[in-house]
Amino acid sequence: MNQSGAQTRAPEHLDTLRCRICHTVTAAGPYHVCEECFGPLEVVYDLEGLRGTLTREKIAGRPTDLWRYRELLPTAEEPSRGKGVGWTPLLPAPRLGNALGIQDLWIKVDSSNHPTQSFKDRVVAVALQRAKEFGINVVGCASTGNLANSVAAQAATAGLSAWIFIPEDLEEEKIIATGVHGVRLVRIKGVYDDVNRLCAEVADRFDWGIVNVNLRAYYAEGSKTMGFEIAEQLGWTIPANIVAPMAGGSLITKLRKAFKELAAVGLVREGPEPRFFGAQATGCAPIISALESGADRITPIREPVTIARSLAIGNPADGTFAVATMRETGGWGTAVSDPEIVEGMRLLATLEGVFTETAGGVAVASAAKLSKEGRIAKQGPTVLCITGNGLKTKEAARSTFELGESIEPRLSEVERLADSAAQQRL
Ligand SMILES: *Cc1c(COP(=O)(O)O)cnc(C)c1O
Ligand SMILES: [Zn+2]
Repeated sequence: MNQSGAQTRAPEHLDTLRCRICHTVTAAGPYHVCEECFGPLEVVYDLEGLRGTLTREKIAGRPTDLWRYRELLPTAEEPSRGKGVGWTPLLPAPRLGNALGIQDLWIKVDSSNHPTQSFKDRVVAVALQRAKEFGINVVGCASTGNLANSVAAQAATAGLSAWIFIPEDLEEEKIIATGVHGVRLVRIKGVYDDVNRLCAEVADRFDWGIVNVNLRAYYAEGSKTMGFEIAEQLGWTIPANIVAPMAGGSLITKLRKAFKELAAVGLVREGPEPRFFGAQATGCAPIISALESGADRITPIREPVTIARSLAIGNPADGTFAVATMRETGGWGTAVSDPEIVEGMRLLATLEGVFTETAGGVAVASAAKLSKEGRIAKQGPTVLCITGNGLKTKEAARSTFELGESIEPRLSEVERLADSAAQQRL
């Protein structure tokens, strides 16, 4: 553990991790399972102690990145990693809202996150900061694409070696956007769950920080910053409904934790929680299946088949917590087909000017379906989490428009096109 570089002593709460199942407390470190019950571990905070000291004014005076909420993140030092990550736009989306039948619709646009255009930049920033505090010099991840991009980019910024494990048939855009950062890219013959299992063994064998395996408790905390920002950008209020795409189920679970913590420290008024709505693709919907069937366990999907590759996790680590999040808050969830996903991407691009990847299409299409079914409450703001960028899954958008003819560079040619466009409008 790196004590030498620390300017301040670690706040006491960062000395421990707590099991999310049996609540046993263990010493903090790059460990991901409880020694008593093998349950997942979680960071705990002294929320009472932050009441009155972590104020809206203090936060407002800080740089616009995710470290403006540092007291609610697992960092013992003045953070030096993950600069410029987060603080993405929260925009009103009235045209999309009109199409979906949702009043007061907003989009949280993580497709423009720094440095790799997805919400994964948040979790990596926090994991790599904590890795520094633990003295870890080699990092890595098991990834469906976006995590690979972000670990590669942020490891480059920090001057760290990175080992990135991905399924061999990942989208080319995501492979290129990883490899360009000069990392060790290891392509695995198998699906994501094979990659993840291998990484659990890698984390045991080497002294590496695998961000979503042995650093997962810290990684997961990064997701909360999306919720903190939504509340701050809504003038320190909490939305009525949130729609989030689900892969491992971590984001939706941590958004809930974020709003609870804000209420506990007094940054937002105590009141009803938002209703959480989870979204998956029908080709890989283990969390939605459990929600709909009332099961209390997740039945893993062996071979996911969907264009939403970034959500294609057949055995979601936080699946049961995600189900609880939707059930306990009065929300719900749904799964959408590949054509519906493409239509969701098209709607967001044509109505709000945001080109999202397939996972964003899942969120939009699911919101449309849930709205039609009358599941989304009419009162109050609804926030759609747009978690990734369309340039990373370009193929999926190819069918949304016609390429049109190519013409000679002559005005008469444009006149001809304008005439026929006018004809078609008649
Ligand atoms: C990882 C990811 C998610 C959600 O991931 P969880 O594992 O559920 O936290 C959503 N959208 C995109 C684009 C992602 O890459
Ligand atoms: Zn336990």
